[in-house]
Amino acid sequence: MYKKIAIVGAGSAGAFLASLLSQAGANVNIYEKSRKIGCFCAWGTIESELKNLLKYVGLNFEDYILSKVKRIIVDDIELKVTNLVTFNKPKLIYDLIKGLRVLRVEATKEIAGKYDLVIDATGYKRSLLPKLKNDLLTPTIEYVIRTKDLDENTIYIKFGKIGYAWIFPMGDGYWHIGAGDIIVNPILLVKKIFKKFNIKGKVTCSCESYIRSKPPAYCKPMVYRNIVGCGESVGTVFPITGEGIAHSMKCSLILFNHILNDGYLKKYEEAVIKEFKWFNSIFKLTWLLTGSRFKLVLPLLKSSLSILKYAKRFGAKPAAVVRALAKLLLRRKNLAKYELLEAPL
Ligand SMILES: Cc1cc2nc3c(=O)[nH]c(=O)nc-3n(C[C@H](O)[C@H](O)[C@H](O)COP(=O)(O)OP(=O)(O)OC[C@H]3O[C@@H](n4cnc5c(N)ncnc54)[C@H](O)[C@@H]3O)c2cc1C
Repeated sequence: MYKKIAIVGAGSAGAFLASLLSQAGANVNIYEKSRKIGCFCAWGTIESELKNLLKYVGLNFEDYILSKVKRIIVDDIELKVTNLVTFNKPKLIYDLIKGLRVLRVEATKEIAGKYDLVIDATGYKRSLLPKLKNDLLTPTIEYVIRTKDLDENTIYIKFGKIGYAWIFPMGDGYWHIGAGDIIVNPILLVKKIFKKFNIKGKVTCSCESYIRSKPPAYCKPMVYRNIVGCGESVGTVFPITGEGIAHSMKCSLILFNHILNDGYLKKYEEAVIKEFKWFNSIFKLTWLLTGSRFKLVLPLLKSSLSILKYAKRFGAKPAAVVRALAKLLLRRKNLAKYELLEAPL
């Protein structure tokens, strides 16, 4: 095992990896620049997957669940789900790194000289690994609001062009309302979803961020000298939906196993690309969302295995998913001209 390990970034990937490594006896220092741990994202995830992942560090996922989601309403199409929850992400991260050494500073590449191994778990920033050519980052905005106008066990979605607006329950009348889209200004999408579901409420917090939209196959190198990427820094986010918590934690588990295996990292990149290979066909769909709906039919059929695998994770019935997709496709208007919103990197 490496003698001195630094983990840069205490998001879902970094915090989970820190917990796994320290329980295995490693000497770990965590660098985290933000004081608002776990704030910049909504907290929806797959119940069974988080339950299994947290068993590795002796935590019980039930202790973090805020709302068990029963249905997703997309525009006005309803999809029943059984395995989707929202959870208290800041509390989980706090518990994962409790008792570990956390340095509240922004780390740079220079720290690499002080450690045997440095993990870049910095999310969309990818602060330490070489920057990606043609990176694709989706701008997002998110608010926490308090309202009584919505049904607690429901997630509400309104599609944009290449992205969507969402409303996720946080329990006790609090909601995450946000949007991410590569083409439409997310603020406009948020306004539309407010209007669509006739929401009035008090905004208590807001934040802006980005989501990496390219899957691991497009995020090489993942290992550079003694720096290795983990989580969203190497693209473990489902394209188009932007769901990345469970996937980033799975990436931590893969990295943990490679570190334990005598620090043999050569095969790590291959293992991550293989695990998330099913994201690739969905990523290829991204650009087609801006064109004719007829051009979408064949690629959608080609991606059907990935779409059904994704829906199964949520506990949605395949027939219901196919019906919902067909309805959405029929409603979709063509979009001839567009410009990408600019990302800061
Ligand atoms: C608005 C929004 C909503 C989302 N909603 C969901 C959702 O509901 N469900 C879901 O599964 N996914 C969601 N995602 C995606 C999900 O948040 C990420 O994919 C996932 O958290 C990635 O985890 P990570 O640990 O790799 O990165 P992050 O969670 O982004 O953590 C990276 C950490 O690194 C720190 N950092 C960065 N640079 C440095 C540095 N140089 N030095 C020190 N610290 C640094 C950051 O402060 C941050 O804490 C959402 C994302 C956004 C932006």
